[in-house]
Amino acid sequence: MAKHIMLLSIVLFATSASCQQIENKSETKKEMETNVFLEKWIGPYGGVPAFDKMKIEDLHSAVIAGMELNLAEIETIANNTEEPTFENTIVAMERSGKELDRVFSYYGILRSNISTPESRKIQADLAPKLSEFSSKISQNEKLFQRVKAVYDKSLKTPLEADQQRVVELTYKGFEMRGAELDPEKKKRYAAINKELSTLYTTFSNNLLHDEENYVTYLTKDQLSGLSDSYIKSAAKIATDKKHHGSYAVTNTRSSMAPFLTYSNERELRKQVWINYYSRGDNGDQYDNNNNITEILKLRRERVELLGYKNYAAWRLQDRMAKTPENAMKLMNAVWPAAIARVHEEVADMQAVADGKNDKITIEPWDYRYYAEKVRKKKYDLNSEEVKQYLQLDKLREAMFYVAGRLFNFNFKPVSEGTVSVFQEDVKVWEVSDKDSGELIGLWYLDPYARTGKRSGAWATTYRSYTSFDGKKTVLASNNSNFVKPAPGEPVLVSWDDASTFFHEFGHALHFFSSNVRYPTLNGGVRDYTEFQSQLLERWLPTDEVINTYLVHYKTGKPMPKDLIAKIKKAATFNQGFATTEYLASALMDMKLHLADPANLDVDAFEKTTLTEMKMPKELVMRHRTPQFGHVFSGEGYATAYYGYMWADVLTADAAEAFQESPDGFYDKKLAAKLVEYLFTPRNSIDPEEAYRKFRGRDAKIEALMRDRGFPVNK
Ligand SMILES: [Zn+2]
Repeated sequence: MAKHIMLLSIVLFATSASCQQIENKSETKKEMETNVFLEKWIGPYGGVPAFDKMKIEDLHSAVIAGMELNLAEIETIANNTEEPTFENTIVAMERSGKELDRVFSYYGILRSNISTPESRKIQADLAPKLSEFSSKISQNEKLFQRVKAVYDKSLKTPLEADQQRVVELTYKGFEMRGAELDPEKKKRYAAINKELSTLYTTFSNNLLHDEENYVTYLTKDQLSGLSDSYIKSAAKIATDKKHHGSYAVTNTRSSMAPFLTYSNERELRKQVWINYYSRGDNGDQYDNNNNITEILKLRRERVELLGYKNYAAWRLQDRMAKTPENAMKLMNAVWPAAIARVHEEVADMQAVADGKNDKITIEPWDYRYYAEKVRKKKYDLNSEEVKQYLQLDKLREAMFYVAGRLFNFNFKPVSEGTVSVFQEDVKVWEVSDKDSGELIGLWYLDPYARTGKRSGAWATTYRSYTSFDGKKTVLASNNSNFVKPAPGEPVLVSWDDASTFFHEFGHALHFFSSNVRYPTLNGGVRDYTEFQSQLLERWLPTDEVINTYLVHYKTGKPMPKDLIAKIKKAATFNQGFATTEYLASALMDMKLHLADPANLDVDAFEKTTLTEMKMPKELVMRHRTPQFGHVFSGEGYATAYYGYMWADVLTADAAEAFQESPDGFYDKKLAAKLVEYLFTPRNSIDPEEAYRKFRGRDAKIEALMRDRGFPVNK
């Protein structure tokens, strides 16, 4: 059940509409026989999703039927007349919901990879229904009493360690979701959740509206500074949008950021910047400010029902940070160094502008542009030159190499047609153990941007490893938004994008290495699961990878030593900007949830808080509040955006462990520890304890400060 509550938190999205409903058992049965979303996965590799047979019109009824089936299973468990045991209660719950799990794998694809107005409508209609479904389980009194009985018994007679953890996580999950409330409060609790699910949907749809409907079209004489590949793709986007002969800058990060970095047209930079940072904040029907106040009020009311002071206190109790105070302590320790660095960066940029006689004062739409000029001047590092050595295919081979060295994994391409995919560009690899040849699973890669695909990069699983009902093979995917090249041409990517590619692959490796018995133990602790992926980025600049895989796309020669030296030297470059734009968002997330939400004016709160924080005026938060989808289009990252930095402390500290070890990043002994303690257990042991086993001590914040080139207080 806990696994489903987690799924729901990432699954609720899209617009509103109504659809046919199927809500009786016989219909459910019929649905089971004819609906591909519910069907058992068949074929090789332990069964794979039938992506080629998806019919969008089946989605709605599949989700409804999946919920019905799961609720029926839950009723059976709850009404069992035998004495509650781990087996007949907890294991039975872990086993339940298989059909819905399968539907959700498709659901995620239809939401994130190939979304259409039609699928958005269906998903919007389902959002409140899924919320009700989740409440029906988490508020099932009989079920909770059985869980509680198993939990109480386990306190006297402990189970095996991983079983004990499943029981504790399950019990805690119920408690956190209102299982102990009286009937009146339970009703209100469920009503709040339903209301929230609709608000989350509205929030993300407003954002999507503003991303799709603000496009800056350029004419031929406005392209100065932009790269050929950017111009080519901008021309294609414009043509797709029926603006033949012009060039489109869309209102997404992947379009905005390079434009602001390279375009010489200052007025246009300003326009693109305003469009992007005004998303959800245009004072029209798509404005998100009031939605945010409503969301904050409802979240506060909900946790008050449970006796918590604020949302953050409730949320963080099962996170590694444990309390909002601990999270704030970390952020406040880094903040002064970050903004101090911004002032230095601005001074450097202003000098460049003055030197060029640009007669400007650095504004937020100038930051990326002049930062790039400083980068070239100070580090003589040209991002375009670096790109020539970063070919997507080679990077992928490099990741396979690293996975082989650290995890003993082997990747072999699956011949086309063996495993079905949802789009022709998606490719699949078979993952096995290098020595035993044992099959571990399949890796799906969906590399290119397209209409209907959400921006950014992410990793998911269609099936996770468990062994309590026989070993399951893992089906994991990585998804990116690289611009699809012309046939035969290589995809050249930036250093940042290459790092992100490694990052997402780190998530996949975390999925593949799982060694847990029960589904619940695959769950992620938000401020910990980014650690494994962030750490993997550190293998990109290792000599082994550079010499073999970072080779020039024309000459095949490895990246020259002096260019690598420049990249390494420039690694801490612009950390003022990066840390400050991120931390401002993370601090805002926490402060918004600690504040009194009654009559909260979000716009004013954002302004006042930033002033109090002494936010430098030359940059903005990475996600301004009305566009902070992490926090307001669901609950996944609410009061949890700090988690990236929390995980980054672990990352910097663990990376130092590798630097200090005899064979560096490929040290066999340390790699074995890394896999054993930090990857395979997933959430089957407490992350704090796991880290101590790896490092022999807790992580130190000083490692992060050194990593970012900030002064370390002695
Ligand atoms: Zn990640």
